[in-house]
Amino acid sequence: MSQPRLAPGIAVVGTGTVGAMTLWRLAARGVPATGFDTYAPGHDRGAAGGESRIFRTAYKEGAEYVPLLQAARGLWHELEEAAGARLLHLVGGATVGPADHPTVRAVLDCAERYDLPVELLTGAEARRRVPEHPLGDGEVLVLDPDAGFLTPEPAVQAAAAAAERAGATIRRYERVLDVEPDGDGVTIRTDRATDRFDAVVLAPGPWARTLLGDLPVQPRTITSTWFTRHDPSLFDAKRCPIAVRVGPHAFSCFPAVDGRGVKVNPHGEFPPVDAPEALPRSAAPELVDRLRTAVSAVLPGLVPDPIRIATYCDGFTPDGHGLLGPLPGLGGRVHVATGFSGHGFKLAPVFGDAAADLVLTGSTPRPVDHLSPARPL
Ligand SMILES: Cc1cc2nc3c(=O)[nH]c(=O)nc-3n(C[C@H](O)[C@H](O)[C@H](O)COP(=O)(O)OP(=O)(O)OC[C@H]3O[C@@H](n4cnc5c(N)ncnc54)[C@H](O)[C@@H]3O)c2cc1C
Repeated sequence: MSQPRLAPGIAVVGTGTVGAMTLWRLAARGVPATGFDTYAPGHDRGAAGGESRIFRTAYKEGAEYVPLLQAARGLWHELEEAAGARLLHLVGGATVGPADHPTVRAVLDCAERYDLPVELLTGAEARRRVPEHPLGDGEVLVLDPDAGFLTPEPAVQAAAAAAERAGATIRRYERVLDVEPDGDGVTIRTDRATDRFDAVVLAPGPWARTLLGDLPVQPRTITSTWFTRHDPSLFDAKRCPIAVRVGPHAFSCFPAVDGRGVKVNPHGEFPPVDAPEALPRSAAPELVDRLRTAVSAVLPGLVPDPIRIATYCDGFTPDGHGLLGPLPGLGGRVHVATGFSGHGFKLAPVFGDAAADLVLTGSTPRPVDHLSPARPL
């Protein structure tokens, strides 16, 4: 085995969504930082593929995320400025479904608690404002103006480029095989070399268990499907809000980001896989049938046969919240940022910023205690 080379500073394993943001936030503080990735930032093998991700502020997953979402929005704009490109498109976000559905209630309660400017639309007003998502009997549409979509592959590339411009190093196509902490630092062994760092942030996304066998992060399949429009003036990415539909037909729906296909991500079961490399390339016939039924029933502007189907992967924890912070018992030198359970993209810059705080100082002003890896799972 080669002798470890001396390379002080912080290592970041995985320069996907949260790893690239962590590297950017470390480099922006002037800290020497080195990222490693099996692939290259912006690839679509893990959690960041598929052209669009939802950003919402009135948060059904937990009102405790609102301050983090508001901070994330500011950091997205900072990254846009650094990249000279638009990454966050605030076209609004609709939650659509039965008025008494728990998700609709959770969005309204969250908005009330944080005084967020959502609108509750029904009947002809909803139809006029959001013709893409007609309402059934007893259904409502909650419109969040601080919502929209992000473009994930360019966003990860932008964070990696901003990190490199600020002095970070990225070692692409170099897979980390193991990480060994000791009293003075951490030894990182890859398929090419062995190096020493002061500390490490592990951001391996859905590969968490491949790297750290006992971490409670299950890789799961998320399927994306794309549909064509009957009327090309509908689902225009300049004005049509993203939508989360709940009730008998549950899915997320994006406007036509590439000018052609409207993306629909079915909700429900996210089947487990051993690792992202084992993802099926297509959807089960039952899922396709379910989608055709749903699109025919509630998205009349779309032709109900998907023209494209793709599968991606995220790492899910048992409680559906990520793991962010030091792993207990390893002297504060090994931190994790993973397991974001299907909803981590919108928050990635603020997770990266908090990860940088935590690995450098052991604490962060960001409200991320609920993500501590030391919590019982
Ligand atoms: C289809 C889909 C739709 C989603 N929709 C939304 C949404 O609308 N809104 C939202 O907020 N969130 C959404 N999410 C969730 C969000 O995209 C993820 O939570 C987030 O991207 C996770 O980022 P990550 O950094 O943990 O993983 P990744 O982005 O996959 O990054 C992990 C990186 O680690 C690298 N790596 C792993 N192991 C090693 C190793 N041993 N050595 C070197 N490198 C390694 C990988 O190559 C990869 O680049 C969605 C997820 C999916 C899959």
